[in-house]
Amino acid sequence: MLMDALRRKRCGPGAVVRPVRCTPTHAGWLALCCAVVALAGCGRKTAAPPAATVPVWDATAFDGQRALDEVRRLVALGPRDAGTPGAARAADYLQGRLRELGVEATVAAFHDAAPGGAVIFRNVLGKLPGAGGGLIILGSHYDTKAGLGPDFQGANDGGSSTGVLLEIARVAAGPWRDAVRRARRQAALTLPEIWLVFFDGEECRVRYGPHDGFHGSRQLARQLVTDGRAREVLAMVLLDMVGQRDVRLTLPHNVTPDLAVKVLNAAAREGVREKIALLADSVGDDHVAFIDAGMPAVDLIDFQYGSAPGLNDYWHTAADRLDKLSPASLQLAGRVTLRLVGDLVAETAGPR
Ligand SMILES: [Zn+2]
Repeated sequence: MLMDALRRKRCGPGAVVRPVRCTPTHAGWLALCCAVVALAGCGRKTAAPPAATVPVWDATAFDGQRALDEVRRLVALGPRDAGTPGAARAADYLQGRLRELGVEATVAAFHDAAPGGAVIFRNVLGKLPGAGGGLIILGSHYDTKAGLGPDFQGANDGGSSTGVLLEIARVAAGPWRDAVRRARRQAALTLPEIWLVFFDGEECRVRYGPHDGFHGSRQLARQLVTDGRAREVLAMVLLDMVGQRDVRLTLPHNVTPDLAVKVLNAAAREGVREKIALLADSVGDDHVAFIDAGMPAVDLIDFQYGSAPGLNDYWHTAADRLDKLSPASLQLAGRVTLRLVGDLVAETAGPR
């Protein structure tokens, strides 16, 4: 896949991508649409896949109001532009919050070239242990777009997905720890590690390019390759801009088709299949570094964030505030993600 062929989120406002439903423009997407029709239905009711055989957590325990409270606490810290004291403060906060929620957490700081000179970026890594069974990565970026003034909250762009991941941590950490303990004691099952990753430097300063934007995701993807762990990754699931009212999540063209089908199946089982559409366009986002490195990855994003359907006029403006978010939307994204991960675990867990 050529990077140049990707439609990227632009640095300035104005980019709008249009969701389409099963009107593919490429052969691969046609195949995916056929798979979707066969497995998940295109607006029709079809048989759900078999229920998970490995009990992990109850997806309905995900509380959209709690997720919104997480976003509120994050934006109260102020702007989180990469390389600023605000970003360092946010990284420390996320590390502490993960630990409060029972998740082992670290801040991984690194230098990377950026317009205007090298910047210190900080990824925050929350890790739920596994039992010899691969790795599932859930991702969000937490940085805010620079240059938008002291009042820019990034409540939806950076905040919403971060709140969802923290609420997932609350729901998942305890049951997962118990499941892993049982698996290790009985030596009967393999279970994957689950990482909750908060990327820094998703936003570009000038224009997306090799040294501008997606710094955190590129760093982690590189690290996984270097460490020989890329092949263990079962899925990288990215959430971005998932909290606006009446959310319509989309799966861009440039995701792993098999994972997209699994997302749609999870949504069908949550009863929200009609809330997720396929996009004919590709979207540049933090999942791309993983796809480029050969790891399966998917991006759930609603890139129409505006004052009317089809508009994106709240994006990268002072209007991206808490009052635009809805607990129901955060809950939808969280529950579908928990379902998806539960399905992936059930699919891959096996006897040692
Ligand atoms: Zn942004």
